[in-house]
Amino acid sequence: MQIIHHAVIAVIAILLLYPILGIHSLWIFVTGVLIDIDHYAWYVDKFRKYNLVKHNVFEAYKFFKKKKYKKHHPLLLVFHTYEFGFFLVVLTIIYPFYLPFLIGYLLHMSADMIYDMHKYSYKNRLRSIILTLLKKY
Ligand SMILES: [Zn+2]
Repeated sequence: MQIIHHAVIAVIAILLLYPILGIHSLWIFVTGVLIDIDHYAWYVDKFRKYNLVKHNVFEAYKFFKKKKYKKHHPLLLVFHTYEFGFFLVVLTIIYPFYLPFLIGYLLHMSADMIYDMHKYSYKNRLRSIILTLLKKY
């Protein structure tokens, strides 16, 4: 799913939850949109483009926009894994302050999963760090 779609969903959620969460609802944007930064981390690591000035986020954005990532499937995106979701759930149980982060994350993941089911095979992404490591070693 494109980042603009995640931004629209996050803004709607922020507006709907503002009466309940107040200014803290803005944190929904962080996990609702910005967790896609892991695509950039994957791109940098996969192609060893560690000069982040030369190979900036826009270069990676073009790579994903042109769907050149398809030949590298399945992708392991750290913030799009069950483990990260579990971490956020535990964090929210211990510190309720993180509830907006969890809400943004759940919205983001739901949108991504619905998009993947309709556009691509569900197997395009590796959803678990642990299961991926167990299969590799
Ligand atoms: Zn995503």
